[in-house]
Amino acid sequence: MEKQKKKLSLTTSIFISLVLGVIVGVLMQNVSDIAVNYIKPFGTIYLNLIKMVVVPVVLLSIMQGIVSLQDIKKVGAIGVRTIVYYFLTTALAITIGLIFANVLNVGAGYVLPAGELTYEASAAPNFMDTLVNIFPSNFFEPLSSATMLQVIVIAVFFGFGVILAGEKGQPASRAIDSLAEVSFKVMGMIIKLSPIGVFALICPVIAQNGPAVLLPLLKVILVAYVAYILHMVVVYSSAVKGFAGLSPIKFFKIMSGPILFAFSSASSVGVLPFNMEATEKLGARKEISSFVLPLGATINMDGTAIYQGVCAIFIAQIFGIDLNITQQLTIILTATLASIGTAGVPGSGMIMLAMVLQSVGLPVEGIALVAGIDRILDMGRTVVNITGDASCAVCVDAMDRRREAKRLAKQAKNAEAAK
Ligand code: ASP
Repeated sequence: MEKQKKKLSLTTSIFISLVLGVIVGVLMQNVSDIAVNYIKPFGTIYLNLIKMVVVPVVLLSIMQGIVSLQDIKKVGAIGVRTIVYYFLTTALAITIGLIFANVLNVGAGYVLPAGELTYEASAAPNFMDTLVNIFPSNFFEPLSSATMLQVIVIAVFFGFGVILAGEKGQPASRAIDSLAEVSFKVMGMIIKLSPIGVFALICPVIAQNGPAVLLPLLKVILVAYVAYILHMVVVYSSAVKGFAGLSPIKFFKIMSGPILFAFSSASSVGVLPFNMEATEKLGARKEISSFVLPLGATINMDGTAIYQGVCAIFIAQIFGIDLNITQQLTIILTATLASIGTAGVPGSGMIMLAMVLQSVGLPVEGIALVAGIDRILDMGRTVVNITGDASCAVCVDAMDRRREAKRLAKQAKNAEAAK
C-alpha cells in the first residue's frame, strides 16, 4: 500500500510538472532563448540518462526472460506467439490510422505555409538491407551504438546459450539475474528524475513555438488521437477479454499508472519497470513479462504505426498527391517495419516516418510541418505502444497457462491409461 502511494505520487508529480512546463513555456514565449539555453539542457540530460540505461535493461531483461523459461521449446512457443501478436496488432493499428486519415480527410483545409520546407532526409534502406542489418557482426558495436534490434539478437542467442550450457551455464544465469536487477535499480533512479526531465522537455517547446503552433495542425492531432483511442479500446480490450478473460475495465484501471507515465515521458523504455509491475498485477507471470515487455518496448509500436499512417496521408493530401491502394498497402508494410525499428525514446517515431514517406515517394520535407507538434503526437503514441505491450504479456501468459494445463491433463490421462 505504502509503495502504491509512493508510485502514485510520482506519476502525479510527473503530470503536474507537465502542466507546469506548458504554463511556464507560455509565459516564457518572449524569452524563449533562455528556455532553450538553460532549461532544455536538463531535458537532454534526462534523455541521455534514459538512453544510457536502455541497452543494459533490454539486453539483460530479455536474456533473463529467456533463461528463466529454461526449456527451449517453451521459449520458442512464447516467442512465436509474442511476435505474431505484435505483428498483427501493429498491422491493424496502421490500417486503422490509414482509414481514419482517409475518411476524416486529415489534410483538408490545411494551407501550406509559404517559404521553404526543409528537412534533412536520410536515405531509406531497402527491405533486404534492413533484414541483413538486424544481425550484428560484432558483439560490442551494437551495444555501444544502441542498435536495438541487434542488441535483441545478441540477447536471444546468448540467452539460449546459457540454457544450452546447462550446469556450466548456471553462474552466467545468476550473473544475468543480478545484473538485470542492478539495471532496473539504475532505471528506477533515473525515473525519479522524470518530473524534472518532463518539465525541461516540454517548456522550451512551448516557449519556442507557442501554443498557437497547434492550431493549424489540430486536425492531425485529433485524427491521430481518435485512432489511438479506438485502437486501444477495440483491439486491446477484445484481446485481453478474448484471450485472457480479463475485464477491459480492470485492465485499463491497472494500466492507468504506466499510461500516465508514458503520456508524460514519451518513452516506452522508461515505462518498462511500471509496465512490469502492472502486468504482474494483471496476472502475467514474471518470466513471461520479463521476456515480452522489453521486446515490446523495442519492437512493438502500434501508436507509432498509427501516427505514421495518419502523417503519411496528411502529407499526401496537402501536397495534392493521390495514393492508390498499392501505395497504401506499401505504407502498411513499411510502417510496420519502421515501427519495429523505432527506438522506445521520445521523438524516434518521427525519424522513422522518413522511411515510410520515401517508400511511396511522398515528399519527406512534409515532416517539417508536423515536427512542431511531434511531442504531442508522441505522448499519445507512446501510451498506445506500452498498452499494446502489456496486453500482449497478459494474452501470451493466458495462452501459455492453457497450453500448460492441456499438457498436464494429457499427462494425467496417459498415466491413467498406463495403469
Ligand atoms: N516515443 C515513442 C516510444 O517511446 C516512440 C516514437 O517516437 O514513436 O514508444
